[in-house]
Amino acid sequence: MSGAFGFTLLARDGAARRGRVALAHGTVETPAFMPVGTAATVKAMRPEEVAATGAEIVLANTYHLMLRPGAERIAALGGLHRFMNWPRPILTDSGGFQVMSLAKLRAIDESGVTFRSHLDGARHHLTPERSIEIQRLLGSDIAMAFDECTPFPATDAEARASMELSMRWARRCRDAFAAPAGHALFGIVQGSVFPDLRLQSAAALRAIGFDGYAVGGLAVGEGREAMYAVLDVTVPALPEAAPRYLMGVGKPEDIVGAVLRGIDLFDCVLPTRSGRTAQAFTRGGAVNLRNARHQDDPRPLDAACACAACRSYSRAYLHHLAKSGEILASMLLTEHNLRYYQDLMAGLRGAIADGRVADFAQGFADAQSLGDIPPRG
Ligand SMILES: [Zn+2]
Repeated sequence: MSGAFGFTLLARDGAARRGRVALAHGTVETPAFMPVGTAATVKAMRPEEVAATGAEIVLANTYHLMLRPGAERIAALGGLHRFMNWPRPILTDSGGFQVMSLAKLRAIDESGVTFRSHLDGARHHLTPERSIEIQRLLGSDIAMAFDECTPFPATDAEARASMELSMRWARRCRDAFAAPAGHALFGIVQGSVFPDLRLQSAAALRAIGFDGYAVGGLAVGEGREAMYAVLDVTVPALPEAAPRYLMGVGKPEDIVGAVLRGIDLFDCVLPTRSGRTAQAFTRGGAVNLRNARHQDDPRPLDAACACAACRSYSRAYLHHLAKSGEILASMLLTEHNLRYYQDLMAGLRGAIADGRVADFAQGFADAQSLGDIPPRG
């Protein structure tokens, strides 16, 4: 399976875009949400179940896979698609973000980052070139440039130095990237919450030239309004003809807001992580299945959802599973949450194609503000 990389803009509604990304292992309809499969698994889900929720691409983490089981081992076993039995597109992050958030004793210099593994303390040196090599060994359809995710908050001077280092690394990633047809390399805009730095970063990446452009360094505590402000400055500075990816975002309402601002791709651990802690996303907002109000409730979690958890089980049963710490609770709620996210993306895609995305967003907000409907009696 191999096709050329491409991005087709199918429709536009305001700044929102309906598109299609073509990759070596298939196509991705956008706007799209990518479930996170950190350690080559979307936790609690078999790959065919992930696909059945509507997901066309998953994200895997370079940092985790380079430490365990190792990129060379996965390559020898036929690459990440075969290793994890996911034949569709895969995006890998560069490892940069998680080196900063998980590894011990980090030291950054011009060459890259030296760190100790959070698993066994072993010393590693990750450079832009090595990150690209690892992502090639994994066989990812979309590789990400190795960057420094600027800590938040940062001063203007700190954010500038960090962004400029990331842009020098982006150049090195582009030079090191030599994957076969259908494999893409995305650059990542940094610059914290400073509009001039975001614009300089976007211009630097455009000058280098990437297959797609990500907005990084958000969802790190800056808040929704600051995030939207960065998108309002950054997105118009990115090429129309390339996909745009907002990294690590987010809550359903954040995704709707970012789609309205022209973002095409998303990833977040929220639906999967929440599914393992009895938190469910529904058309009426977030629901905690551990709450005692569900214990006698025969209704489905979300009557408008077609997932297995909603088709075949009551809230009372899901509550029982969650309270009992049963593995099936994680499985069913993860499946539901991923299905909810994919249904939301499908709704956005349809609304953009029909030129009614503003109405869709209003209807979404109205339903969320009504909240979860309590049982009768
Ligand atoms: Zn459901």
